[in-house]
Amino acid sequence: MAARKHSRQRDSIKEFLMTREDHPTADVIYRNVRQRSPSISLGTIYRNLTLLAQDGEISRLNLGDGVDRFDGDTSPHYHLLCEKCGGVVDLEMDDISSVLEKAAAHFDGHVAGHVTYFYGTCGRCTKSGGMDLSGGMDLSGGTDLPRGTELPEDTALPEESGA
Ligand code: ZN
Ligand code: MN
Repeated sequence: MAARKHSRQRDSIKEFLMTREDHPTADVIYRNVRQRSPSISLGTIYRNLTLLAQDGEISRLNLGDGVDRFDGDTSPHYHLLCEKCGGVVDLEMDDISSVLEKAAAHFDGHVAGHVTYFYGTCGRCTKSGGMDLSGGMDLSGGTDLPRGTELPEDTALPEESGA
């Protein structure tokens, strides 16, 4: 495949993702990238996230709760979805690709891959004694101590047309 045309917007999206370890959603990425590129639209964010993921420059995560998250770390690793705060954290663990052999053991077709994520309670929520730190707010953008600057969750978004 020919190299994609250089895009400053795509670069700034990727640069932002590289500063984050909390697997932000497209909405959170939009709110942050917009601080530097005020004219960028949510549609442009989505489009470039899709291209970056297709090119393998970022990872798109689907943890079964209906919202895609994005990861600047494309090395193979596993994730846990916290059922208390909605955050997504990396898990340090051995590779489990041997499940492919188990899946194929009594199967007459071809097993090509697997999608695995874990769910439970993140370390922060566990330490807080099981209290719901989100206070009932939807923090599904990920809440595990972002290193970058973040706008408040309730920042008003302009209406997107046809996005
Ligand atoms: Zn949590
Ligand atoms: Mn990750």
